[in-house]
Amino acid sequence: MTPIILSVATFLSTLAGGIFALRNKKWIKKIMGFTAGVIIGVVAFDLLPEIFRLINENNISSTVPMVALVVGFLVFHITEKFLLMHHGEEKQYGSHHHPQVGVLSALALSGHSFLDGVGIGLGFQVNTTVGIAVAIAVIGHDFADGLNTVNLMLVNKNKDKKAFKFLLLDAIAPVIGVLSTRLFHLSTTNLVIYLGFFCGFLLYISASDILPQAHEDGSTKTIIGLTVLGTIFIFIVTRFA
Ligand SMILES: [Zn+2]
Repeated sequence: MTPIILSVATFLSTLAGGIFALRNKKWIKKIMGFTAGVIIGVVAFDLLPEIFRLINENNISSTVPMVALVVGFLVFHITEKFLLMHHGEEKQYGSHHHPQVGVLSALALSGHSFLDGVGIGLGFQVNTTVGIAVAIAVIGHDFADGLNTVNLMLVNKNKDKKAFKFLLLDAIAPVIGVLSTRLFHLSTTNLVIYLGFFCGFLLYISASDILPQAHEDGSTKTIIGLTVLGTIFIFIVTRFA
Protein backbone atom coordinates (compact mmCIF):
# COMPACT_ATOMS: atom_id res chain seq x y z
CA MET A 1 0.00 0.00 0.00
CA THR A 2 2.73 2.48 1.01
CA PRO A 3 4.42 2.49 -2.46
CA ILE A 4 1.06 3.39 -4.03
CA ILE A 5 0.49 6.26 -1.57
CA LEU A 6 4.03 7.54 -2.22
CA SER A 7 3.47 7.30 -5.97
CA VAL A 8 0.45 9.57 -5.53
CA ALA A 9 2.82 12.03 -3.79
CA THR A 10 5.13 11.89 -6.85
CA PHE A 11 2.08 12.66 -9.00
CA LEU A 12 1.22 15.72 -6.90
CA SER A 13 4.84 16.90 -6.72
CA THR A 14 5.24 16.75 -10.52
CA LEU A 15 1.94 18.54 -10.99
CA ALA A 16 2.91 21.26 -8.50
CA GLY A 17 6.22 21.85 -10.30
CA GLY A 18 4.47 22.18 -13.64
CA ILE A 19 1.81 24.52 -12.33
CA PHE A 20 4.47 26.74 -10.73
CA ALA A 21 6.30 26.83 -14.05
CA LEU A 22 3.10 27.99 -15.74
CA ARG A 23 2.73 30.73 -13.12
CA ASN A 24 6.44 31.47 -12.73
CA LYS A 25 6.70 31.75 -8.97
CA LYS A 26 9.86 33.27 -7.50
CA TRP A 27 10.69 30.77 -4.78
CA ILE A 28 11.11 27.87 -7.26
CA LYS A 29 14.89 28.41 -7.10
CA LYS A 30 14.90 28.07 -3.32
CA ILE A 31 12.92 24.82 -3.46
CA MET A 32 15.38 23.49 -6.03
CA GLY A 33 18.39 24.44 -3.88
CA PHE A 34 16.87 22.58 -0.93
CA THR A 35 15.94 19.57 -3.12
CA ALA A 36 19.53 19.21 -4.37
CA GLY A 37 20.72 19.00 -0.75
CA VAL A 38 17.99 16.47 0.09
CA ILE A 39 19.03 14.22 -2.81
CA ILE A 40 22.73 14.30 -1.86
CA GLY A 41 21.69 13.51 1.72
CA VAL A 42 19.53 10.56 0.61
CA VAL A 43 22.39 9.10 -1.44
CA ALA A 44 25.03 9.53 1.29
CA PHE A 45 23.07 8.77 4.46
CA ASP A 46 20.43 6.36 3.23
CA LEU A 47 21.12 4.54 -0.03
CA LEU A 48 24.90 4.03 0.14
CA PRO A 49 24.78 2.67 3.73
CA GLU A 50 22.02 0.32 2.56
CA ILE A 51 24.24 -0.86 -0.32
CA PHE A 52 27.11 -1.48 2.12
CA ARG A 53 24.80 -3.48 4.40
CA LEU A 54 23.48 -5.60 1.51
CA ILE A 55 26.92 -6.39 0.08
CA ASN A 56 28.28 -7.34 3.52
CA GLU A 57 25.35 -9.61 4.33
CA ASN A 58 25.38 -11.29 0.92
CA ASN A 59 29.13 -11.38 0.20
CA ILE A 60 28.82 -9.25 -2.93
CA SER A 61 31.92 -7.40 -4.15
CA SER A 62 31.78 -3.62 -3.60
CA THR A 63 32.93 -3.20 -7.21
CA VAL A 64 29.49 -4.30 -8.42
CA PRO A 65 27.37 -1.41 -7.03
CA MET A 66 30.17 1.13 -7.53
CA VAL A 67 30.47 0.31 -11.24
CA ALA A 68 26.68 0.61 -11.41
CA LEU A 69 26.93 4.03 -9.73
CA VAL A 70 29.41 5.32 -12.30
CA VAL A 71 27.35 3.84 -15.15
CA GLY A 72 24.22 5.51 -13.74
CA PHE A 73 26.01 8.85 -13.59
CA LEU A 74 27.50 8.53 -17.09
CA VAL A 75 24.38 7.21 -18.86
CA PHE A 76 22.43 10.31 -17.86
CA HIS A 77 25.35 12.62 -18.46
CA ILE A 78 25.97 11.26 -21.96
CA THR A 79 22.28 11.17 -22.94
CA GLU A 80 21.78 14.75 -21.79
CA LYS A 81 24.89 16.14 -23.46
CA PHE A 82 24.09 14.38 -26.74
CA LEU A 83 20.67 16.03 -26.70
CA LEU A 84 22.32 19.40 -25.98
CA MET A 85 24.87 18.85 -28.78
CA HIS A 86 21.95 18.49 -31.16
CA HIS A 87 20.41 21.71 -29.85
CA GLY A 88 23.80 23.43 -30.16
CA GLU A 89 24.10 22.49 -33.83
CA GLU A 90 20.62 23.82 -34.47
CA LYS A 91 21.58 27.21 -33.06
CA GLN A 92 23.96 27.76 -35.97
CA TYR A 93 20.95 28.05 -38.24
CA GLY A 94 19.39 30.74 -36.10
CA SER A 95 16.94 30.12 -33.32
CA HIS A 96 14.07 28.10 -34.64
CA HIS A 97 11.94 26.26 -32.15
CA HIS A 98 9.91 23.21 -33.06
CA PRO A 99 6.88 22.17 -31.06
CA GLN A 100 7.92 18.55 -31.88
CA VAL A 101 11.26 19.04 -30.06
CA GLY A 102 9.28 20.11 -27.00
CA VAL A 103 7.03 17.07 -27.32
CA LEU A 104 9.99 14.68 -27.75
CA SER A 105 11.83 16.20 -24.77
CA ALA A 106 8.68 16.00 -22.66
CA LEU A 107 8.25 12.34 -23.67
CA ALA A 108 11.88 11.63 -22.71
CA LEU A 109 11.22 13.22 -19.31
CA SER A 110 8.12 11.07 -18.88
CA GLY A 111 10.22 7.97 -19.61
CA HIS A 112 12.66 9.14 -16.93
CA SER A 113 9.75 9.68 -14.50
CA PHE A 114 8.51 6.16 -15.23
CA LEU A 115 11.97 4.89 -14.13
CA ASP A 116 11.70 7.08 -11.02
CA GLY A 117 8.57 5.11 -10.16
CA VAL A 118 10.30 1.79 -10.89
CA GLY A 119 13.03 3.01 -8.50
CA ILE A 120 10.52 3.48 -5.68
CA GLY A 121 8.93 0.07 -6.30
CA LEU A 122 12.31 -1.71 -6.35
CA GLY A 123 13.37 0.22 -3.24
CA PHE A 124 10.43 -1.34 -1.45
CA GLN A 125 11.59 -4.76 -2.67
CA VAL A 126 14.79 -4.17 -0.63
CA ASN A 127 12.84 -2.96 2.41
CA THR A 128 10.48 -0.20 3.54
CA THR A 129 13.32 2.12 4.69
CA VAL A 130 15.00 2.04 1.27
CA GLY A 131 11.64 2.42 -0.47
CA ILE A 132 10.85 5.54 1.53
CA ALA A 133 14.39 6.92 1.01
CA VAL A 134 14.09 6.55 -2.75
CA ALA A 135 10.59 8.03 -2.64
CA ILE A 136 11.88 11.13 -0.78
CA ALA A 137 14.54 11.68 -3.46
CA VAL A 138 12.03 11.12 -6.25
CA ILE A 139 9.22 13.22 -4.79
CA GLY A 140 11.70 16.05 -4.18
CA HIS A 141 13.05 16.16 -7.71
CA ASP A 142 9.75 15.38 -9.41
CA PHE A 143 8.89 18.97 -8.71
CA ALA A 144 11.80 19.85 -11.01
CA ASP A 145 10.65 17.23 -13.53
CA GLY A 146 7.21 18.82 -13.75
CA LEU A 147 8.74 22.26 -14.04
CA ASN A 148 11.06 21.12 -16.84
CA THR A 149 8.28 19.38 -18.75
CA VAL A 150 6.27 22.60 -18.90
CA ASN A 151 9.33 24.75 -19.65
CA LEU A 152 10.44 22.47 -22.50
CA MET A 153 6.98 22.58 -24.01
CA LEU A 154 6.60 26.36 -23.70
CA VAL A 155 10.14 27.17 -24.89
CA ASN A 156 9.42 25.17 -28.04
CA LYS A 157 6.28 27.15 -28.76
CA ASN A 158 3.63 24.73 -27.57
CA LYS A 159 0.40 26.10 -26.15
CA ASP A 160 -0.25 26.16 -22.37
CA LYS A 161 -3.03 23.63 -22.78
CA LYS A 162 -0.79 21.13 -24.60
CA ALA A 163 1.98 21.70 -22.03
CA PHE A 164 -0.48 20.83 -19.29
CA LYS A 165 -1.43 17.56 -21.05
CA PHE A 166 2.22 16.50 -21.14
CA LEU A 167 2.60 17.59 -17.53
CA LEU A 168 -0.20 15.15 -16.66
CA LEU A 169 1.59 12.39 -18.59
CA ASP A 170 4.84 13.12 -16.71
CA ALA A 171 2.94 13.12 -13.40
CA ILE A 172 1.21 9.78 -14.02
CA ALA A 173 4.42 8.09 -15.32
CA PRO A 174 5.99 7.37 -11.87
CA VAL A 175 2.68 5.95 -10.62
CA ILE A 176 2.69 3.46 -13.52
CA GLY A 177 6.39 2.81 -12.80
CA VAL A 178 5.63 1.86 -9.18
CA LEU A 179 2.76 -0.40 -10.27
CA SER A 180 4.96 -2.14 -12.89
CA THR A 181 7.33 -3.39 -10.15
CA ARG A 182 4.49 -5.53 -8.80
CA LEU A 183 5.00 -7.71 -11.87
CA PHE A 184 8.61 -8.78 -11.19
CA HIS A 185 11.13 -9.41 -8.41
CA LEU A 186 14.88 -8.80 -8.52
CA SER A 187 17.57 -10.91 -6.85
CA THR A 188 19.66 -9.25 -4.11
CA THR A 189 22.60 -8.80 -6.49
CA ASN A 190 20.39 -7.12 -9.06
CA LEU A 191 18.84 -4.91 -6.40
CA VAL A 192 22.34 -3.84 -5.33
CA ILE A 193 23.18 -3.02 -8.96
CA TYR A 194 19.96 -1.07 -9.32
CA LEU A 195 20.61 0.85 -6.06
CA GLY A 196 24.12 1.76 -7.23
CA PHE A 197 22.80 2.85 -10.62
CA PHE A 198 20.09 4.94 -8.97
CA CYS A 199 22.68 6.62 -6.68
CA GLY A 200 24.74 7.63 -9.73
CA PHE A 201 21.64 8.94 -11.45
CA LEU A 202 20.55 10.93 -8.37
CA LEU A 203 24.01 12.43 -7.86
CA TYR A 204 24.09 13.48 -11.51
CA ILE A 205 20.70 15.18 -11.61
CA SER A 206 21.24 16.98 -8.30
CA ALA A 207 24.67 18.33 -9.25
CA SER A 208 24.20 18.83 -12.98
CA ASP A 209 20.49 19.62 -13.39
CA ILE A 210 18.89 20.83 -10.21
CA LEU A 211 21.74 22.92 -8.71
CA PRO A 212 22.49 24.79 -11.99
CA GLN A 213 18.77 25.52 -12.35
CA ALA A 214 18.59 26.77 -8.76
CA HIS A 215 21.44 29.21 -9.50
CA GLU A 216 20.30 30.17 -13.02
CA ASP A 217 19.12 33.67 -12.09
CA GLY A 218 22.09 34.33 -9.82
CA SER A 219 23.31 32.69 -6.64
CA THR A 220 22.15 33.84 -3.25
CA LYS A 221 23.23 32.92 0.26
CA THR A 222 19.69 31.68 0.85
CA ILE A 223 19.87 29.13 -1.99
CA ILE A 224 23.32 27.92 -0.91
CA GLY A 225 22.16 27.74 2.71
CA LEU A 226 19.07 25.76 1.73
CA THR A 227 21.20 23.17 -0.09
CA VAL A 228 23.31 22.67 3.05
CA LEU A 229 20.11 22.56 5.12
CA GLY A 230 18.71 19.85 2.79
CA THR A 231 21.71 17.59 3.49
CA ILE A 232 21.53 18.23 7.26
CA PHE A 233 17.78 17.59 7.20
CA ILE A 234 18.26 14.11 5.70
CA PHE A 235 21.20 13.41 8.03
CA ILE A 236 18.96 14.07 11.05
CA VAL A 237 15.97 12.20 9.59
CA THR A 238 18.09 9.12 8.90
CA ARG A 239 19.36 9.08 12.53
CA PHE A 240 15.81 8.27 13.61
CA ALA A 241 14.91 5.86 10.81
ZN1 LIG B 1 12.69 12.34 -12.07
